[in-house]
Amino acid sequence: MKDASPQAVYLSDYTPPAYLVDKVSLVFRLDPAATRVLSRIEFRPNPDAASGQPLKLDGEKLKLIGAAVAGEALQDGEHSLTDTALTIPASRLPDGPFVFEAEVEIDPSANTALEGLYMSNGMYCTQCEAEGFRRITYYPDRPDVMAPFHVRIESDMPVLLSNGNPGDSGDGFAEWTDPWPKPAYLFALVAGDLVAAKDSFTTRSGTPVELGIWVRPGDEGKCDYALDALKRSMKWDEDVYGREYDLDVFNIVAVDDFNMGAMENKGLNIFNSKYVLASPATATDTDYENIEGIIAHEYFHNWTGNRITCRDWFQLCLKEGLTVFRDQQFSGDMRSKPVKRIQDVLQLRARQFREDNGPLAHPVRPSSYIEINNFYTATVYEKGAEVIGMLKRLVGDDGYAKALDLYFDRHDGDAATIEDWLAVFQDATGRDLSQFGRWYTQAGTPRVSVTDDFKDGTYTLHLKQETPATPGQPAKQPQVIPVAVGLLNPNGDEVQPTTVLELTEAEQSFAFDGLSAKPVPSILRGFSAPVILDRKTTTEERAFLLAHDTDPFNKWEAGRALAKDVLARMVTERAAPGPAYLNALERVARDDTLDPAFRALALRLPSEDDMAQTLFDAGVTPDPLAIHDAREKLMLALAEHLSASLPRLYEAMNIPGPYSPDSKAAGCRALRQTALAMLARLDDGKTAAKQFRDADNMTEQLGALGVLLSVGHGQEELGTFYRQWQSDRLVIDKWFALQSSTAAPRKAADTTLALTRHPDFDWKNPNRFRSVIGGLAMNAAGFHDPSGASYELVADWLIRLDPMNPQTTARMSTVFETWRRYDADRQALIRGALERIAATPGLSRDTTEMVGRILGSA
Ligand SMILES: [Zn+2]
Repeated sequence: MKDASPQAVYLSDYTPPAYLVDKVSLVFRLDPAATRVLSRIEFRPNPDAASGQPLKLDGEKLKLIGAAVAGEALQDGEHSLTDTALTIPASRLPDGPFVFEAEVEIDPSANTALEGLYMSNGMYCTQCEAEGFRRITYYPDRPDVMAPFHVRIESDMPVLLSNGNPGDSGDGFAEWTDPWPKPAYLFALVAGDLVAAKDSFTTRSGTPVELGIWVRPGDEGKCDYALDALKRSMKWDEDVYGREYDLDVFNIVAVDDFNMGAMENKGLNIFNSKYVLASPATATDTDYENIEGIIAHEYFHNWTGNRITCRDWFQLCLKEGLTVFRDQQFSGDMRSKPVKRIQDVLQLRARQFREDNGPLAHPVRPSSYIEINNFYTATVYEKGAEVIGMLKRLVGDDGYAKALDLYFDRHDGDAATIEDWLAVFQDATGRDLSQFGRWYTQAGTPRVSVTDDFKDGTYTLHLKQETPATPGQPAKQPQVIPVAVGLLNPNGDEVQPTTVLELTEAEQSFAFDGLSAKPVPSILRGFSAPVILDRKTTTEERAFLLAHDTDPFNKWEAGRALAKDVLARMVTERAAPGPAYLNALERVARDDTLDPAFRALALRLPSEDDMAQTLFDAGVTPDPLAIHDAREKLMLALAEHLSASLPRLYEAMNIPGPYSPDSKAAGCRALRQTALAMLARLDDGKTAAKQFRDADNMTEQLGALGVLLSVGHGQEELGTFYRQWQSDRLVIDKWFALQSSTAAPRKAADTTLALTRHPDFDWKNPNRFRSVIGGLAMNAAGFHDPSGASYELVADWLIRLDPMNPQTTARMSTVFETWRRYDADRQALIRGALERIAATPGLSRDTTEMVGRILGSA
């Protein structure tokens, strides 16, 4: 029988679990096609739930061999079994605590969804967040059921790992005990032919911890950076948050087939191999930075996520928003704070603002879902982190530290909620946060419009906030918006250092007196709130702030706004870029007192997708080809304007000596790459071709290849690169992505089609699929080719992938989320592609929900 239409789950329907678990013992008899899982679970009635309820255990794709309650086998008619649950009526259960035992059989080799226990290149591994454990055995698979686990693995694989501390092991078996109560989504098991790169860490209270990164033989030399990042993360969490690690071992396993970036399973993190493995020859500076940030993120979850978890999946931002905020702080401390902040805001705008502006907009804490996997979004993660940044700004650093200490004290071992989180801040600081709580429940990006006046030495800012309607939320209430402001004198001196204005009403004015002249305001310093700032201003004022602002974020923002103004006029009025912009950028390029990483960011033009959104916000229907052409023209104009200084800049940023991934060296390489991209417009790629030949590291080799392709060359180099790296999966992913993402707009669909016919296009591997199909979607002008060829190609592949891997398919369908920005012809083409996906027989619940929401029909 076919499923009825998938049912939504509502936050308001939450009820506590009927039974709690005191202890779990699992035995795995591993076999690729017929793994047996024996479970022994100690249950007791939950005193906080209604008594006399049936025992309902989640389970999917399991073959039940047998089950028993209190030592007596369940007979036919004593339980009911469906595709998703095993239910035992209360009448069959003893009063008080009891033991449930079951034996099930599962088929890891047939598990292509990569949820639960599956196989990747001959090794067994698991992914249980959010609801993968129910594909392993019958269990109350919900985060508010926490228990200690004992695991025995029986297999002839040489390495057998699970959560917690190692116990007995011998020929063909190993046992693991995790003393910390955890929800099932943090369960992990790995078995394979693996080798470890090892190190150790001593906690500040003197406990030694053995660290291991487990990889396939041959990759052990690519783990140094990840190990180093792990040790720095452990130290940082002790120093900054006072949090120590709590087991004897900490293991990380690198897996090639993985739907996500990485997973924080207790004591046994599982990582997509691209976020572990790195060597100078194969990894770029961006890879190194991602590895550092993701290792830190998953490690920090040990406290924010594992020791304190979420009561239910609606509270996902409780662990993710906070942990993203913590990893951003960490990266800022390890690298440059201003540069990190700019990068984070670029990401936020590119992913979260885009989401918040379209059919997929939802609150940081959603109130309903059909498939929870579809809510691992930029809003929950990145906007969730921004909300914590605002809280910290409002209560101050000391208030934040006090609140976090209270959070760890009060909730250690709990499955908590956003209400618990806010209560901790209220109790620690005495501040009423009821209005602030709207950040968790209201979707949409607030727009803050600013006007000002100056009279008798008093400067007044008038702020107005408005949040647009989003799906299911037509009307919004005013939010608490911290607006960090500084004022500059016309001579460039700062007359008012940064102060935080708290905008709580729909409209509010703030006055600054005692000023001798009308100041130039620097508003939303440090991007103090995730809002769109709307203020009419002049090119001269932007150039002034780019030159004089003491706040590095707003200094960069001024240049960014200038570039957007120029590009918008080039697209809509066919205007040529004016000297104000070109001269301002020239000053940045030549200013050796500025951090090279900052200069690289300031010289980089806004992306085509960013420009499409900017034009759409201004009421203009964006034409992706016109944006692409304008951006190319502006790049050329900038290159010509800077022609005298580019060769010098390119040489000055060349660091002698062997490659080092540190942020200072990476910053120089980033600026050098920016100079190279401009130089290529002047020398037809000669310098880039030379750099490609001479490069001794992936950052420079791949950078040169990308530049060559962007100026219509590089075909020969593509062949050289492929032959050199043929046997390295992660590098070949880059080779694929570069081609689909940089192909000339009219050729993008054909180029991508050819790539999908390449023998190395292993489409069942999520990284490879994302490289090729995701790469095409990144190529804005190519993806939106007026013929619709790219839309059709992407739709074909989503339809093909869905039965294999619903999670990755659903996530990739978001490439269509901006469709309402475009003209009627493109909208009709995208609608056709989406409707074709929606009409596919047997489409997964994941993809059905996403496509329905994008079309606006769910
Ligand atoms: Zn996380």
